[in-house]
Amino acid sequence: MSETDHTLAARIDAYCRGLKLPGVRAAARDLADLALRHQHSYPAYLAACLEREVDTRRERRLAHYLRLARLPAHKTLDAFDFTAVPHLPKAQVLALATAAFVRRQENVICLGPPGTGKTHVALALALGALQAGLRVRFILAVTLAQELLLAQQEYRLPRYLRSWQAIDLVVVDELGYLGLGPGGPLLFQFCSERYERGSLLLTTNLEFGRWTEVFGDVTLTAALLDRLTHHAHVLPFQGSSYRVRSRQPARQEGPLPPTSAP
Ligand code: ADP
Ligand code: MG
Repeated sequence: MSETDHTLAARIDAYCRGLKLPGVRAAARDLADLALRHQHSYPAYLAACLEREVDTRRERRLAHYLRLARLPAHKTLDAFDFTAVPHLPKAQVLALATAAFVRRQENVICLGPPGTGKTHVALALALGALQAGLRVRFILAVTLAQELLLAQQEYRLPRYLRSWQAIDLVVVDELGYLGLGPGGPLLFQFCSERYERGSLLLTTNLEFGRWTEVFGDVTLTAALLDRLTHHAHVLPFQGSSYRVRSRQPARQEGPLPPTSAP
């Protein structure tokens, strides 16, 4: 490499640092060699550099949003066995994974008994939204209720509620497994405030008729259900627990085949 090349490389490096272009900074040299070898035009080289920058930024933002989302596990729909929950509309779930519902500020409610894959699907949809460049946050209903209570006790409930406004999709997991006590009405307020401001994905084992047990007040609960289900995709999870099922040996269909002699 001639002295001029060294000087040029140093200048490119400095400009990229100054302009905060990590993608171009990392790739400019290799892309230049490639362009020379294949006789690409100057505009083609510039386009390749900028494309790399865009890709790098998208990857960094995704990694950042993924940390903020605090997903407890990496779950995908590829790894989900739809035959285990025959009433779950597969096409609808696949469509939800494209995150269009988040852009439309619609809600999803995963309803069914424990172990049927509600959290799995919720996490997969959360991942879909993240991959679409949206902000997601996963939280257990009990944790959210505790945080709301604490914020109220410390006179910072409005600020706490506002802090959620930047999130495009909030996943509230396991509503109703435990009584929330005084946190119930606060969770009600949280859900009401999100109405048409952002998406909410709830997983619950409680039929709608029993939601009063969580929120405490019959009228409030009816109003919330009305709002939530107005723009909601209600996904039915029925069947036996996948955890229990997958631990059991496969059931034999029909009569047992005759055992062969040793
Ligand atoms: P729920 O939230 O309904 O209690 P989970 O989503 O936590 O159930 O599922 C329990 C475990 O079983 C998880 O590890 C999940 O990945 C797995 N699981 C549940 N249903 C399925 C399914 N249909 N296909 C693949 N894995 C499943
Ligand atoms: Mg769950």
